[in-house]
Amino acid sequence: LAATMTACGSSQKTVDAQASPTGGAAAGAGALIGVTMPTKSSERWIHDGDNVKSQLEKLGYQVDLQYAENDIPTQANQIENQITKGAKLLIVASIDGTAITSQLQQAADNKIPVIAYDRLIRNSPNVDYYATFDNFKVGVQQATSLLAGLGVDKGEKGPFNVELFGGSPDDNNATFFWNGAMSVLQPQIDSGTLKVKSGQTDFKTAAILRWDPATAQKRMEDILTKTYSGGEKVDGVLSPYDGLSIGILSALKSNGYGTSGQPYPIVTGQDAELASVKSIVAGEQYSTIFKDTRKLAETTVKMADAVLKGGKPEVNNTKDYDNGTKVVPSYLLDPVIVDKANYEQIIIGGNYYTADQLK
Ligand code: BGC
Repeated sequence: LAATMTACGSSQKTVDAQASPTGGAAAGAGALIGVTMPTKSSERWIHDGDNVKSQLEKLGYQVDLQYAENDIPTQANQIENQITKGAKLLIVASIDGTAITSQLQQAADNKIPVIAYDRLIRNSPNVDYYATFDNFKVGVQQATSLLAGLGVDKGEKGPFNVELFGGSPDDNNATFFWNGAMSVLQPQIDSGTLKVKSGQTDFKTAAILRWDPATAQKRMEDILTKTYSGGEKVDGVLSPYDGLSIGILSALKSNGYGTSGQPYPIVTGQDAELASVKSIVAGEQYSTIFKDTRKLAETTVKMADAVLKGGKPEVNNTKDYDNGTKVVPSYLLDPVIVDKANYEQIIIGGNYYTADQLK
């Protein structure tokens, strides 16, 4: 695993954009590529941006990389600026997947192809390709890990008190994560093994706008106050993202969890952000879903390079990602559950973090 991951950057050196005989007009040497990422407030997007930029530069492209701190108009402006600067292709990880339709129309008018990065861009015909992880599977894995942490996979019948959190409602991925998770949890709720004591079982109530950790912390606090003040305990929390998990764990901590008498519930996550992997090692957060940003960058950069050279990029899914206007040809990567039992092998062994970083 480690070998293929670290080798991906160097093997691309053999594909030199500048030397390519097939690199039609658009692929000109040093063509500018616009890359827009949602925010630096979550570490994963910093890794994504760095990996995409360095891998594109290795192929001889110029890169304009922008972050918008989760502000939708800022991201729209950044895309417009990149078009004005003469970008030959855009790679976009959107904040609100429905809010950049007019910018994408402008791109199409200028014959600039667009690749949606990690998050699908909705309601626009002007999205050429989509590179992501299998988002439904991410949700399935989060729920599977929650059940494993509770021992349900080994026959424990509970009943266990669980609470459910969803991601940002304007992020297309969030419903995929939710639907994946509920495909596993709903039968356990129906059979009575799991109880959502707050009664908040629909995505709309569980969703956390812009994936904001403080909002998740507040919602967990409210649930603890309203539903658990009679002495019952929370046994598990479905959390779709590490940043939310940290907020949720803080709320639990201020309500007396995290001691030997009252351990933390099983709390899931996503992204293998450094703070959360440390929390897993410390026995606080139970698990995360590792999505190797180096791999996603590699897939996207290959797509971009193929498109700019007039070729057809490799895709492996042409049915699941309907953006409301068209089904966007996609390449889906495989996510991996990481917990205390396998983090050394997957995270340290895969050179994602060093053992020192996790101390
Ligand atoms: C990404 C997740 C991430 C979340 C919050 C989603 O679109 O797929 O990896 O946890 O956004 O940044």
